[in-house]
Amino acid sequence: MNARGEDRIRGGHPWIYRSDVMDVADVEPGVVVRVRGPRDRDLGQALFSDQSQITLRMLTRDDRPVDQAFWRERLENAIAFREVLEIDATAYRVVHGEADLLPSLVVDRYGDYLVIQALSQGMERLTPTLVPLLVELTGAIGVLARNDPKVRVLEGLEQKVEVLHGEVPETISVREGAVGYHVDPWRGQKTGLFLDQRENRRAAARYAHGTLLDCFSYNGGFALALAPRCQSVTALDVSADAVARITANAAANGVANLTAREANVFDELRHLEREGARFDTIVLDPPAFAKNKGAVQNALAGYKEINLRALRLLAPGGYLITCSCSYNVDEIMFGQAVFAAAVDARVPVNLVEKRMQGRDHPVLLGVPETYYLKCLILRKLA
Ligand code: SAH
Repeated sequence: MNARGEDRIRGGHPWIYRSDVMDVADVEPGVVVRVRGPRDRDLGQALFSDQSQITLRMLTRDDRPVDQAFWRERLENAIAFREVLEIDATAYRVVHGEADLLPSLVVDRYGDYLVIQALSQGMERLTPTLVPLLVELTGAIGVLARNDPKVRVLEGLEQKVEVLHGEVPETISVREGAVGYHVDPWRGQKTGLFLDQRENRRAAARYAHGTLLDCFSYNGGFALALAPRCQSVTALDVSADAVARITANAAANGVANLTAREANVFDELRHLEREGARFDTIVLDPPAFAKNKGAVQNALAGYKEINLRALRLLAPGGYLITCSCSYNVDEIMFGQAVFAAAVDARVPVNLVEKRMQGRDHPVLLGVPETYYLKCLILRKLA
């Protein structure tokens, strides 16, 4: 590989792009290869892909054997870290890819079951090695592969959902804090739930009061966690399925002060503003507006728009919990969009907390892709 590739590895980034790879030995897709830099310097070992723009995903910076014991240790480390977190939930992330030194592997736990995603040729090839280890180390009774993300196509891999161990039911009952969920691991978004927001829901609950508007609610994650602190809760989602799920989840949890409505948040915020509505707490948790770099400008305009409207709808002393999960919009850009919204709304706003994805989705320094979720908690002063 060339010097640019070597610099990236030194900087801690495990991805080496095809344009930096000079020469590839005749190897099969997905195998573990030795990586050499300029003047034949030994740079470590990586997963190889013959299809993706990301040709190499670094595993080690030395030549230790990458065998069963190696994978066991990486998985054990990931699992042990989650134990340190004392997570108050039966659903959480066990392996967060690059940040657990297991590039392109996702493992989520839902009660007695695991849902995994192998997002490269390398992890696809390793799946038969990793699944028995995961079963042994976690005691899972069923493992589902949610290998339907589009990125698999870039690797030349099939998009498919299949059971890899035991049996996996259509619905799994899990708990997050005091809230119970029936999760569909086969069809739910991501692997079933937005696990990365668990800690932000809990943080938001400290401030929530009065009337709550939960925008982009999906299955009511924020609405249900905050409902006990609020008089009344309105949850909005554009999907009718989501609205049905929120309503069912509210009933199952004995939450009586919640109404879920099918609506486009952009239209509904405008409509509420015209009506002169007021809320004491508002949550904005939209889907990724910037799926790629080209979409960043529009995304920023979108963030500014919804945050401006939310700040206008907020009662003095009210809280806005505002999120962005677009990794192409970084913390600074998102903060600027929110600041611009506050300027246009002409209201004084406190920045109460700067948050990110839950600690079970760790960030790896030097790998901005692992830091994708931003969450600000703001207070409107007057
Ligand atoms: N807040 C949720 C996760 C939100 S995911 C949680 O804590 O679990 C984003 C949700 O936004 C999806 O359910 C999607 O259906 C919804 N959505 C996307 N665009 C929307 C729009 N314009 N208006 C309302 N909902 C939208």
